[in-house]
Parts: sequence; structure tokens; C-alpha cells
Amino acid sequence: MDIARVIVDVPTSQTNRTFDYKIPPHLEGVVDTGMRVIVPFGPRKIMGFVIGITDESKHDRLKAIGDVMDLTPVLTGELLELGRWIADTTLCLHISALQAMLPQVLKAKYEKEIHIIGDREQLPDRIQLVSNGRGYFPFDDVTEAGIPYSVVQKAMKEGTIELRYKVKGKETLKKIPYIAPAVPVDTLYEEYEGLSKQAKKQRLITSYFIEYPTEIEEKKLLEELNTTKASLKPLIDKGTLSRVYKEVYRSPYEEDAFERTEPLTLTEEQKDAITPIWRSVTEKRHETFLLHGVTGSGKTEVYLQSIQQVIEEGREAIVLVPEIALTPQTVERFKSRFGSNVAVLHSALSKGEKFDEWRKVQRKEVQVVVGARSAIFAPFQNLGIIIIDEEHETSYKQEDHPRYHARDVAIYRGEQHDCPIVLGSATPTLETYARAKKGVYTLLSMTKRMNEASMPEVERIDMREELHAGNRSMFSRSLFDKIQERMAKGEQTVLFLNRRGYSTFVMCRDCGHVSECPHCDIALTYHRKNDRLKCHYCSYEEAMPTVCPSCESDTIRYFGTGTQKIEESLQQLLPEARIIRMDVDTTRQKGAHERLLTKFGNKEADILLGTQMIAKGLDFGNVTLVGVLAADSLLHLPDFRSSEKTFQLLTQVSGRAGRDKLPGEVVVQSYTPEHYSIEMASQYDYESFYLKEMKMRKLGQYPPYYFLTLVTVSHPNQLYAMDVIRKVVTFLQEQLSEETVILGPTPSPLARIKDRYRHQCMIKYRNEPNLTKVMKRLFQLYEDEIQNKDLQLTIDFQPYHMM
Ligand code: ADP
Ligand code: ZN
Ligand code: ZN
Repeated sequence: MDIARVIVDVPTSQTNRTFDYKIPPHLEGVVDTGMRVIVPFGPRKIMGFVIGITDESKHDRLKAIGDVMDLTPVLTGELLELGRWIADTTLCLHISALQAMLPQVLKAKYEKEIHIIGDREQLPDRIQLVSNGRGYFPFDDVTEAGIPYSVVQKAMKEGTIELRYKVKGKETLKKIPYIAPAVPVDTLYEEYEGLSKQAKKQRLITSYFIEYPTEIEEKKLLEELNTTKASLKPLIDKGTLSRVYKEVYRSPYEEDAFERTEPLTLTEEQKDAITPIWRSVTEKRHETFLLHGVTGSGKTEVYLQSIQQVIEEGREAIVLVPEIALTPQTVERFKSRFGSNVAVLHSALSKGEKFDEWRKVQRKEVQVVVGARSAIFAPFQNLGIIIIDEEHETSYKQEDHPRYHARDVAIYRGEQHDCPIVLGSATPTLETYARAKKGVYTLLSMTKRMNEASMPEVERIDMREELHAGNRSMFSRSLFDKIQERMAKGEQTVLFLNRRGYSTFVMCRDCGHVSECPHCDIALTYHRKNDRLKCHYCSYEEAMPTVCPSCESDTIRYFGTGTQKIEESLQQLLPEARIIRMDVDTTRQKGAHERLLTKFGNKEADILLGTQMIAKGLDFGNVTLVGVLAADSLLHLPDFRSSEKTFQLLTQVSGRAGRDKLPGEVVVQSYTPEHYSIEMASQYDYESFYLKEMKMRKLGQYPPYYFLTLVTVSHPNQLYAMDVIRKVVTFLQEQLSEETVILGPTPSPLARIKDRYRHQCMIKYRNEPNLTKVMKRLFQLYEDEIQNKDLQLTIDFQPYHMM
């Protein structure tokens, strides 16, 4: 008797194990590992993943699987293993890890349909009978007719039919309106005769359909006849014409929209970098490379030609880029080289579109996937390379269950597939660079920009001096002059503000002094409610000062201005300037991001003002000035990585100026322009920054010298949450080694979210081999409270957000 090992979709720790189910006779040979099934669980029927098939079980009297949800596995054996590894290393539930690897469609409600894709003649008779001449039909028709799944499976394997998942709800298929005559041509003619001479547009439309009595896309019709919906309305209301909606195949990227590109002749630097990668591909050897190349050094071309090699050897490639950089410009570079051999996965696609792209991978129709973080789970079976561009981006770490880092998953998969991993960046994380220096990763460097171009000059402006000179605006005199110069020359400016009206620190505008925690070297966070400053690593706090402790000026205050306010004051100063603002508010709508960028690219604006989202991937030759308005707002985040993030962002932003023939210039405004991260970023000196920052990390006992783990509890009742976190700290102190430091407990920087109070503690350690075990025990200890008392306990190994 065959028995399936199933992980059930019940997200609790008691059910976080496999359950055995009998495979009933009618599903014998149908059920396979990696498929989802419906199983009885208590009084309910629920979904589960088959992760193995065996012929014996420790339990007798097994229940039987009720039904299968898929007829082909949705997860490969390797991905099932990966799921277990993720569950083990991030301490998430096994079911969450498996779910995370599937496209969203498979998590939503959907109906199954059989589509005939091959020769009708070759269909099994019974399926042909059910199809009754239809091109596709509900899967239920097959089950109702009593056709065994094995027959359907066989036909699927032979390629005559395929199973499609049709999501319920409005966004499944794209539908576009068509207009068609609703009456025969002679009736149209009568209608035409009956129309008054004044109804010119109606006459025009009717005569069009007399001439071409067939449906046409509404948009095309209106364009062709140069008319509007309003003139169609009476004809539709009368019943002369009808509007029908037709489904179009969801293809977000038109294949022929991209001109094909050929591989470029590599420069010496590129050759030196790519040779070891090629070697590793050909020898099928797992190796992790760090491709450290300044912006514009041609990293993408190295990626493209590495992939080329992989394709030629009949293997597959995954390219990860940060969500925010997954712009049409980026996608185009891969599509232009590899055409329809590329699938694209990112969140701007609808669920249905994403599923279509995923299925191309599953059905081996493509060899390359370009996508954001979750594309790391692309179900390729023969990987030849995984590339992670901008490896320092924090978005590669998923912030809720499961808390995996795409880089770790990539390296894990690279080991399974014996293939190289390429991490690319102009500003690698300290962790990665340190590993490369130690030889854990292979370091490949590209130090020159293409075509001898140099990085733009960076001018640092001391905003304290601006204040002393009587300039109270957010724009230094120098930046303001330069913007005006650009406008006069018809060149463009990009202005960058770290984030939207949200910051937490307190700074003296006179001398640049920022209040920091005496124990953690982290900027203190201002709490408006009780007017106090708090440290979110340890529990230190102090009163909000009324005068600067350093220079006694009374200009010490909470720091922060939003993009909208800046836009207003800029417009006041430069009434004739055409400004595009890009922040979360103006880009909420689907496609808004691209629209605004296209507008800017078409030179319909002089200034692009925006947050983080404009820092990457932007490539406009006419941009010759980049201004960073408040470099400080990044520098003083309550985060030990704030200097690193400042360096990365300034480098990134500077790379936006002078991309083409015109030389670029960068202006960085700050109240502490002498800070090493600002100074070294302005000199593009990564190496010096690395050395200096490593010293700081060592002193502060931060990564990469120490590891961190963040434990957060949350509960609607604040006292209860505080009580739990105190006990957690006591427990950890008992269980962990002497040298390990536990900071806190303390309220989280975001102390309350959705009416839940959040408290945290941070574990700093160098060597703690039992940490995972201790954490598992911690979960067990609070199992009951988590289950029944609405307590949430989260553990984040190597956290990126300290919030
Ligand atoms: P990076 O990814 O390192 O920022 P890019 O790949 O964007 O750099 O390269 C910068 C520019 O140089 C691009 O316009 C690219 O087409 C061009 N380029 C790259 N490699 C070559 C080459 N070998 N010969 C000529 N141009 C190149
Ligand atoms: Zn502190
Ligand atoms: Zn001061």
C-alpha cells in the first residue's frame, strides 16, 4: 500500500510535522511528491503538500487522501528539500516555507480548466467526448464523467491537453472592449438612412460598420474615426452596436518590442572578471563570486555573457534584481539579448501574469528568469548560474514568514546544482566584502567606467554654514544656482530626499550635533508622546534637550521634511520649473512609476524630485545634476548600518549623473559633511570606507564581527507584552553562553502597530552553536500563549530592519 507523507496547511507548531495518509486506489500512480492534495484533518478537509511517498507508516488506521489539487507536481524534489532547510534555519513553519515558493495564484481561490493544446485526433476518446468540440472546459466536467486522473495525466504528458488554473476575481485575465455590429448589414443600412444629418459621428460610425461588418477593438475604432465614447453610446443603447469584452493573452512584455542586441566585445577588465565565472560554469563547480564593479563598469554585460554560456550548455539562469530596479529599462536589457527565452517575475505584474511567467519556467519554455526576491524559487531543474545584482540591497531579505535571505537561498541552491553564484555591486555589504577578502567568496573587481568616463564630481555643502549665512531654505545657494543653470541649458536635474517626511532623530542645525546613545553609538529616537529620546538597542533614555549639549544653540530639533513640502517650496522659488515628484504617494497606482519616468525621459520636466525609488536603475543621458537634499536623514537612522547605507545610497545616486556624453555633477547637502561615509562616498573610495567602517563595527561589536538576532514579542496588552519579553531575556541569559550579550528588553522603534504593543531584545554573539535549539525551546515555552492568548513571538536571525 502506498502512503503519502503530507505537510498540512494548518499553521500551528503542533501540526508542524508530516502526517501519513493512504493513497486510495483511484489515486494510485497519480499522486506524486511535490503535488498538493486535499486531506481530511479532524472534521475538516484541508490542503497539504506531499513531500514523500513510502510504503510503511508507524501509525495504523490511516485516513485516505481525498483528492489531488494538481496533476503535475508544483514543487520539485530540490525545492521540497529547500523548504525544509528554510524552515530549519529561519524557524518558520514548514508549511510557510513551502507556500513561499509558489506563485500567488496557487494560494488564491481558483478553478481548474482543461485546455486542448495538441492534436484533437490524439485525445483519449473519453476526453474528446467530454470536450464536445470545445477548446477548453472546466476540469469538473472530467471528474463528473468519471474519467480517471491517470488518463488526464497521460494526455498532459503527451502534450495534447494542459491544466490551467483560473483565478476567481477580476484580475485574472485582461479583458479589452471590442465593438461589433449587433444587427445584419441591411439593418445597419436602414439605421443609417434613419439618422438625422446632424448626427455626423453616428452616421460615420454606422457607415464604417456597413463597410466592415465585423468587430474591432474599441480603442482602434475611436482612433480611426477620430471620435469618442459619447458618440458610440446612442448606437449601443439602441442596440445597433454591441460592446463585448475579449480576453487577451497576458503578455506584459511584447517580444518584438525589443531590438535584439549582440554580445559586446568585452574589455580587458570584463574578460578578467568573466573568465573564472565561465570556468566555474563549464566545470559545473559551485563557487560564489563577488563582482565588485563601480557603477557603469559594465557588470550587466558580464551577467549577460555568463548567462549566454549557461544557455549554450543547455542549463538555466536566475537573475535577481531589487524590486525597485526592476524597471522596463532593466528588463529590456535581458529581453533584448535573449528574447522569449526570458521570463520576468515582479510584483507589478498581476497574479495571473506572474503565474503565466512562472509556468514558462515550470514547462521549460524559458532558460532565464529575471525577477525580484522570490524569483530565487524559480522551479528550474538544471541551474547553471544564479546572479544577484545590487547584492547589498536589503530587499533581498524577506521581512515576514519565512525570514529568508535570497543570498543564502541562492548559495544553498548553487550547492545543490553545482553552479556558480555571482553577487554584483558597486558597494557590497560589509559582510560580503569581508568574506571575499577572506577568500570565502572569489573577488572579481572592475574599477573603470566604460569609455573612460569618470565618475561625476561631488560637491559637499555644509548646511550649517548656509544657516550662518542667513539661508534658511532647504536648498543651498550652490545647488540652487546649479539647478537654474541646468534649466537655462535645457538639461535635467534629479533631486533626492531620503524618505517621505519621516525621521526619528534630533539634530542641532547650528552645529550638526546628533544625540546618540552612550552605550550603542546609535542615534536616539525621538518620542513625541513624552518628549523623550530613547535608544532602541538598549533601554537607555533621556529627556529631550532644549538647547544643544554641544554648542548651546536652541536650534536643536526633530529633523524631517517631506517631498511634498520640498516640491512646494521649490516651485515657489522657481515658478517656471517643471517638477515631477516621485514618492509612495505619487506612484501608488499601477504603472504610475513607469509613466512618470517616461515623462521625465521625454524631457517633459526639468526636475525629478523623489525618494529612494529614484536612486536605482535610472539611466537618462540628459541628467547632468544630482542633488542630495539631506544626507543626514539616512546617516542617523537608529541602525548600526546607517553609515553603510549612506555610503551605498550616495554612490548609487551619484551614478545617476552624467550617464552619457554630458559630464555630470553631484551636490550633497549635509549638516555633517565631514562624516567619513559622506566624505568617502564623494571620493568613490569604497576600500577606505570599508576599512574605516570595519573598525567601527569592531568597536561597537556589530556584524560582521558579531552576529545579531532580534527577538520581538507583541500583544494588545502592553503590560503582558513587557512581562513576556522580560521573561524571554531571563530565559536567554540562562541558556546562552557567558560571552553573549543580550541588549534590552526595550520597546521596538515602532512601538505599536495595529494596536499591538511591541517589545524586543537583541542578542549579540560570536559563537552560539545552540542558538537555533534554544530558540526552538523558547517557542515551545510560549506555545500555549501563542496559540490561545494572541501572543506573537518573532525571531529574526541576522535582522536588516531593527524596527
Ligand atoms: P553597471 O551594470 O556596472 O552599472 P552597465 O552594464 O550599465 O554598468 O554598463 C554601462 C554602459 O556600458 C552600458 O551602456 C553598456 O551597454 C556599456 N558597455 C558595457 N560593456 C561594454 C563593452 N564591452 N563595450 C562597449 N560598451 C559596453
Ligand atoms: Zn543603547
Ligand atoms: Zn549645536
